[in-house]
Amino acid sequence: MINISKYKDIIITHGVCSGIGTKMNVYIYLVDGLLFDTGPSALQKDTREFFNRQVIEKVALTHVHEDHSGLAHWLQKNKRVPIYLHPEAIKVAERKGKYRLYRRFIWGGREPFDPQAMPEVIRTERYVFNAIDTPGHTEFHHVFHEKDQGWLITGDLYVGRKLLLAFYEENMIQMIASLEKVLQLDFDTILCSHAGVVPKGKEKMRQKLDFLTELQGKVRELRAKGLTDGEIDKIIYPQKRAVKTISGGEWSSYNIIHTI
Ligand SMILES: [Zn+2]
Repeated sequence: MINISKYKDIIITHGVCSGIGTKMNVYIYLVDGLLFDTGPSALQKDTREFFNRQVIEKVALTHVHEDHSGLAHWLQKNKRVPIYLHPEAIKVAERKGKYRLYRRFIWGGREPFDPQAMPEVIRTERYVFNAIDTPGHTEFHHVFHEKDQGWLITGDLYVGRKLLLAFYEENMIQMIASLEKVLQLDFDTILCSHAGVVPKGKEKMRQKLDFLTELQGKVRELRAKGLTDGEIDKIIYPQKRAVKTISGGEWSSYNIIHTI
């Protein structure tokens, strides 16, 4: 089930992916003909209907993960629109996505597609978006900044103020640097792929940075005492999470500690 709502000139679709005991919100934003991310193929029935009702002129992907690019293949084939992606991720996009079973179960697969290199600036009739390189969640990740409106489309840079788990591709040192970088910009509203529209977004983003730098301080202190990252993980995140086992370690708190 997909709900459609509007925030100023932004058309938003919202769907929920579920499986392995978890529920994940997915938000897709369409602004003046420019679509940000495609959502996962698990939501394709409703999302395709949405795409068919809207005018879509081009697509900008924050990154190539299947919950953000799962319908890129369909859009390219059926809408014949350009799809922009980080140039370093193009090779990945050109191959069919290969994922562990739990990921296919929650998000569905990703067919290969043929993206173009992300331009520095994407213009629509009424808006101008700057693409900003923001590694951390994955190495090749962009956020998009509409300076005059104060909008920041954040892909998976924000998601929440605190982190309990991280994906194996995540790197917290890079994420801290990317958060510091975007906090130099003027924005007030975050448009997040999983948290939705976040007002007072800059404040929330700063809280995420504070959380990570504080955590980094604690981890460094414990490392200086001779503790291993595994031991530090057990102290800071004592609760065992089923998702770590289900994902074969792809999602874990250790991925936070080890890369901070
Ligand atoms: Zn992602």
